[in-house]
Amino acid sequence: MKPVAIFGGTFDPVHLGHLRAAWEAAEQLDAQVRMLPAHVPPHRPPARASASRRVAMLEAALQGQDRLLLDTRELDREGPSYSVDTLADLRRELGPERPLVLLLGADAFAGLDRWHRWRTLFELAHIGVLTRPGSGVAALSADLRDLVQPRRCRVEALCLAPAGQVADLPVTALDISASAIRGMLAQGREPRYLLPDALLHDRAMLEVYRD
Ligand code: ATP
Repeated sequence: MKPVAIFGGTFDPVHLGHLRAAWEAAEQLDAQVRMLPAHVPPHRPPARASASRRVAMLEAALQGQDRLLLDTRELDREGPSYSVDTLADLRRELGPERPLVLLLGADAFAGLDRWHRWRTLFELAHIGVLTRPGSGVAALSADLRDLVQPRRCRVEALCLAPAGQVADLPVTALDISASAIRGMLAQGREPRYLLPDALLHDRAMLEVYRD
């Protein structure tokens, strides 16, 4: 059964770093990847763009292909969501058999043991760790290492079980960040070739970052 993978983020704005990583993960897993825009948690600086603007940018960015899909379930709920609740929701929707993969950058993965009910994540989904060549391997805590070690597998094995395995997915390193793009726009510069063209075609799309 083909896996479903999720790629969460603030996407303020979505850029080619996000899209290329999600695309390469989709190809390696032969999966559909759902892009999940998140509410910004109260302890983080607010997103510059509203939730509806971030969704509009994702919709524009995802046109013309069908491997990457938009999934707004976290925005449809009030307040920030725990990943464990989002995955439980998806698991109910997909049924018990379908492989489900939580895609995480290597840094986020290294901090996983600070997440709410982090051990339960492995009952609900696999974890695909997006590794960028040359960026080194982040150290894991003893707790996380002990849980992950016996679960390590090759990417092909993720489609053989619904959850519980961990595979590295090497993706092209693109040194692009939303904060750098916001900085460029605030200075009146054009972030061409860092963002999908569709975001540049409509001047109103990025207006919120310009003042
Ligand atoms: P900011 O600069 O505002 O912190 P960001 O560009 O890191 O934003 P997020 O929405 O916070 O974007 O990131 C969502 C997910 O995308 C995270 O898992 C993050 O690791 C990953 N990501 C961000 N930039 C890249 C990139 N250039 N290549 C691959 N993955 C990326």
